[in-house]
Amino acid sequence: MARIVMKFGGTSVAGTERIRRVANIVRAQAAGGNQVAVVVSAMAGETDRLVNFCREANPLYDPAEYDVVVASGEQVTAGLLALTLQAMGCRARSWLGWQLPVRTFSAHANARVGDIEAERLLAAMAEGEIAVIPGFQGVSDEQRITTMGRGGSDTSAVAIAAALKADRCDIYTDVDGVYTTDPRIVARARKIKHIAFEEMLELASVGAKVLQTRSVSLAMKHDVRVQVLSSFVDDGAPPADSLPGTMIVSEAEMQKLLEEGQVERQTVTGIAHDKNEARVVLTRVPDKPGAVAQIFTPLGDAGINVDMIIQNVGRDKGETDVTFTVPQAELARAQALLEDKREAIGFNRLITDARVAKISVVGMGMKSHAGVAATMFKSLADRGINVQAISTSEIKVSVLIDEDETELAVRVLHTAYGLDSELAPA
Ligand code: ASP
Ligand code: MG
Repeated sequence: MARIVMKFGGTSVAGTERIRRVANIVRAQAAGGNQVAVVVSAMAGETDRLVNFCREANPLYDPAEYDVVVASGEQVTAGLLALTLQAMGCRARSWLGWQLPVRTFSAHANARVGDIEAERLLAAMAEGEIAVIPGFQGVSDEQRITTMGRGGSDTSAVAIAAALKADRCDIYTDVDGVYTTDPRIVARARKIKHIAFEEMLELASVGAKVLQTRSVSLAMKHDVRVQVLSSFVDDGAPPADSLPGTMIVSEAEMQKLLEEGQVERQTVTGIAHDKNEARVVLTRVPDKPGAVAQIFTPLGDAGINVDMIIQNVGRDKGETDVTFTVPQAELARAQALLEDKREAIGFNRLITDARVAKISVVGMGMKSHAGVAATMFKSLADRGINVQAISTSEIKVSVLIDEDETELAVRVLHTAYGLDSELAPA
């Protein structure tokens, strides 16, 4: 008998008909003799609708009241799923964030998960009751309702799986797994059977939108085995226990699977793209100690995440150009801050470009293989794609290119790293 946390995303619970389908999947897991806790998102589009109400009510809304409003979407689906399970003859009840409680800390609207008290939940589950938990919500030290940032139900599910010491956290969504790249761009993209936490973390943070990034770091921290799989399956489909989706596991488990010959590791595991970056160039910045600190300190203080940074070799004596990227949504704020500090920084021109995209190749195999970056640069150059900035980590190489060339770049790289499947899916 296993203890399983099942999480269903917004499209899977959009409407009572789909909730019935979810209830069937949950019932089957419980009927297999497993202890089951279910975490649900709000119905697709519901959180956006609630966020808009807050904006209409008060453009400068209080985040604590915003949380009261947006947390309600998950409360509705949790109650509806419990009702639907009961109608099928299953024992089920909902547990709201404050009832468990799911303790959270730091800011409203973007809370972090702390401790989750699992005793009562474990006791109920041991008696065969299915626990239904709204994702996304928790409670602060001040006893107020909090939410965990958009996409936060993934993080709720992983945190609950960690607290319950669950054997697996199954994240049901509208895709049947994590792919080597976006299948809408590359028809020959392949479903990845096993991927290491570190790789998934890099992919999630550079634009593969399957899971909230924070949920992956949490899974890595607590060693929660996570499966991504589809809730849109036919009755005869293989059960979740046979692992039809993508398993996200520790590097230790990966090594074991590699030794047993159950998986083969490519140098590059996946390719992600992100069009939400913007490039900023400051020209003729004084080439002296402290100059870059003058640029990046105010941005850091304002909570603006700077990603790729290039400092060009000074063309003229004593001056240099500095190029970097920020999230597109922060571009206006970054621009205003920098203009404000024009004197102190001493730059000449501030040039921005939002029509850029970041393409990243990720893989643990890079640790032991040289030439990954060279392959990337050469493949892009062969197609005349210009690289505007580069950043790397131990298991990732990212380049910034013209946004119009995104799809071409992804296709070219997918082929270059040998990731194309044999046959295009029909
Ligand atoms: N409903 C919330 C959102 O849309 C949380 C979630 O679904 O993960 O962001
Ligand atoms: Mg989501």
